[in-house]
Amino acid sequence: MNAKPLKYKRILLKLSGEALLGKLDYGIDPEVLQRLAREIQEISRAGCQVGVVIGGGNIFRGAGLAAAGMDRVTGDHMGMLATVMNALAMQDALEKLGAYARVMSALKINEVCEDFIRRRAIRHLEKGRITIFAAGTGNPFFTTDSAAALRAVEIGAELMLKATKVDGVYDSDPKKNPEAKRYARLSYEDVITRDLRVMDTAAIALCRDYAIPLRIYDMAQPGDLMRIVQGEDIGTLVHT
Ligand code: UDP
Repeated sequence: MNAKPLKYKRILLKLSGEALLGKLDYGIDPEVLQRLAREIQEISRAGCQVGVVIGGGNIFRGAGLAAAGMDRVTGDHMGMLATVMNALAMQDALEKLGAYARVMSALKINEVCEDFIRRRAIRHLEKGRITIFAAGTGNPFFTTDSAAALRAVEIGAELMLKATKVDGVYDSDPKKNPEAKRYARLSYEDVITRDLRVMDTAAIALCRDYAIPLRIYDMAQPGDLMRIVQGEDIGTLVHT
């Protein structure tokens, strides 16, 4: 086990639904799920209190369903329920590894998981339970990025982490432009004024207003999660 001290004692990790796809077009790749669960368990074992928000884009997105003709609010409800499925899958993967995990949902589905109650969530975190926040904010027209920013503020996270497929924020698309430059650090104002699509504006505004630092990193690099929690400068840091 890695004995380096931790820089962050409580974090909020945002995983997109797409992160769970692996090589699939739809659903959850069990190998990817297990790898992510192992990395989360590793930082939890090292003493980091971990809140997780998972998206639902690997199953349903409200905007996509609306584009196909469905009522937007119904589509968003389906999207939120998709995040609950992902959260249950992550809880299962963590428990299979012997970790303690709890799913808390912003929509009431008591037969399936707990409701999100902030004080109870903080208690879970203090007890070292990996706490997975499901169903986004519980409201249509929001994203799980906004939910992640909201939960990060509510639990007093010292850092919000956004795991993506790229190793940070670039000035242009690194897949199209070989000259693209990665930013090591950015202010929230930079993100807004340069229209860098790091997260939606509501999520960025919440992190900025409540001074939550945000790090964007490549989830495909094994061990990076631990290194970041130990304070290494990986990916892009967005700060106030
Ligand atoms: N959603 C919502 N309210 C929320 C969070 C999510 O209505 O507070 C719905 C919305 O339809 C969204 C879907 O859930 O498209 C899945 O979330 P998201 O698109 O953020 O997932 P990700 O892109 O991270 O996989």
